[in-house]
Amino acid sequence: MQNHPETQSSSSIIDCDRSDIIDADIIVLGSSISGLMAATYLKQKLPELEVIVVGPKPEAEKRAYVGESLTEISIHFFWEIGFKDYLDRTHDLKNGLTFYHKLRIDDPADYRYSVHAPGQSLHFLSRQLNRPIFDRDLRQHAAQSGVKFMIGKAKDFVVGKGGDRHQLSVKTSENKLTHLSSRWIVDASGQKRFIGKKVTTYTCPETGQRSAFWFRLANFEPFLPQLEISQRRPSEYNLWQSTHHFMGHGNWIWCIPLKTIEHDRLISVGISYRPDLYSHSMRSMEDFLAAVDCEHPAVAQMVRSGEVLDTHNYHNYLYSADEIYSETGWFLIGNSARMVDPLYSTGLAMTAIQIQQVTEIIQGKIASNITPQDIANLSFVWRQIAMRRQIDITDQYATMHDPFVAHLRRYWNLNGWWNAILPLWWSGFLTDPRGANILCKLLEGDDRGSKSAAQLFEAVSAKLGNVEQSDFDRTIDFDRLINRRFDRSISTIPLQLARYFQWRLQIRWRLLSLGGWQLLPSQLRSILQEFVRMLLSKYLFGYLNRDALREIKLSLDFDFAGAVRQDKEGYLSHKNEG
Ligand SMILES: Cc1cc2nc3c(=O)[nH]c(=O)nc-3n(C[C@H](O)[C@H](O)[C@H](O)COP(=O)(O)OP(=O)(O)OC[C@H]3O[C@@H](n4cnc5c(N)ncnc54)[C@H](O)[C@@H]3O)c2cc1C
Repeated sequence: MQNHPETQSSSSIIDCDRSDIIDADIIVLGSSISGLMAATYLKQKLPELEVIVVGPKPEAEKRAYVGESLTEISIHFFWEIGFKDYLDRTHDLKNGLTFYHKLRIDDPADYRYSVHAPGQSLHFLSRQLNRPIFDRDLRQHAAQSGVKFMIGKAKDFVVGKGGDRHQLSVKTSENKLTHLSSRWIVDASGQKRFIGKKVTTYTCPETGQRSAFWFRLANFEPFLPQLEISQRRPSEYNLWQSTHHFMGHGNWIWCIPLKTIEHDRLISVGISYRPDLYSHSMRSMEDFLAAVDCEHPAVAQMVRSGEVLDTHNYHNYLYSADEIYSETGWFLIGNSARMVDPLYSTGLAMTAIQIQQVTEIIQGKIASNITPQDIANLSFVWRQIAMRRQIDITDQYATMHDPFVAHLRRYWNLNGWWNAILPLWWSGFLTDPRGANILCKLLEGDDRGSKSAAQLFEAVSAKLGNVEQSDFDRTIDFDRLINRRFDRSISTIPLQLARYFQWRLQIRWRLLSLGGWQLLPSQLRSILQEFVRMLLSKYLFGYLNRDALREIKLSLDFDFAGAVRQDKEGYLSHKNEG
């Protein structure tokens, strides 16, 4: 990893007459999706505070519209801010993530795919965002919630130290320099990192960088009828209504169907790749089609049948901030904090967690009951989870073309998402300082177990050679692995964590029985560790953390969104137990 000190010097005082300054409690810099999410949430949770969003008019910029596929945490976040009915009405249903593993990736004439998706519907169904429409409506919703807007671009910033207020100067749309001051400031300025670059440093990975090329396509013929699909069991829902992923050599392709009234059909299509592993140039539609013809001609055919509306690309875009929250009241969120690989569509979910943490910190500051250590713990937990997921995704590119390894690596990760992260988030461990304090201890050190599991997957794949659907059917049943009802009482956390370790053991066990027990010695240490952790989670975690388990605040209030209607029973019993 490389440290890029991009800190820029800035004057210590913005030169202006004090009477010109507009005072706010919170400034949110950036009016794209992260800024609007943060401002709306903060205003709803802290209605007594004045929240001002600073940014250009949406129509005055070419926004990079990504972040269309919502997952469990991001959809709950939008329900929480009162957007459930709106999302249901206006944006397309998403059943889940669907992965297409080509059985013979090097043969363009072979259209056989093993398709992996939940067989049954998920309990919490999600949505695909048509971003231009969504951004417009979220902005309006923010304004209706009481958020104020200043149209313009920030030009200078002075961090408030020792209790001083932060100062920001903004060139407004009328070309006037205006000065603002605030107690708290949230940097949601995306890749510009307007505040981030002044207050911290950023780290970029030296190897395993990421690039992406994407576009929106209208009036096309879908790829599904072209494929020869095999599945463990047919999905009980319309497979088209999901986020589609095609796996290849050092790359994967996303296809996200979007709701539209302007076109017959609309879809977001993009390719994400590691430039050190994927040698194709990817700067134009011609490049995209030439590359995709080699691996997934059905996708290329779909693209040729439609009309391309716009194209975007990012090169070597990964970075992450070395600090994301400060004692002095600045916070970096969304792309200002880090850039993500969107393999699991969790970018906005991670941003939603940040916004909940920032709100918790501001609430704690107002009530004088949050310590610098609490802030450091919340930040550590978020950064550890974000970093581990990204490092793991980076590693996966080397074997994405191998259907057997790729599906197992994903199941391994999704076990972590469904059986650890989601229940912990739901119960407040990622957003309440008491929960974060407990998680910090669990997240220390690196996850050696995952490394040995990846070695096992590769060894078994090498042994099996060319695989068929029957080989996938003998591994783990994804429908059993996913914890659809992670929205359970905090008292079940020990059991849910034990289940997470139990699945890790089961995956190893199943593979050993497939690949041969001579692989056992290399796995023994991890098996023992996971077995002990399973027992500790089940029998000791609850006892050791009994006080915290009574005090930790759930991450959602659910008073606005109508989600209660979707899950009345579960919600009420959860509340009562709490
Ligand atoms: C290829 C790709 C695909 C993705 N897909 C998904 C997905 O399917 N699901 C998901 O959850 N996440 C996804 N993500 C992640 C998610 O899309 C991003 O996290 C999100 O779009 C970032 O939004 P943002 O508001 O932080 O940044 P941006 O959208 O870049 O917004 C930054 C804003 O700040 C403004 N700004 C900059 N400088 C200034 C200044 N000086 N003054 C005022 N304003 C300023 C800009 O004008 C802009 O409006 C994806 C990411 C990538 C890279």
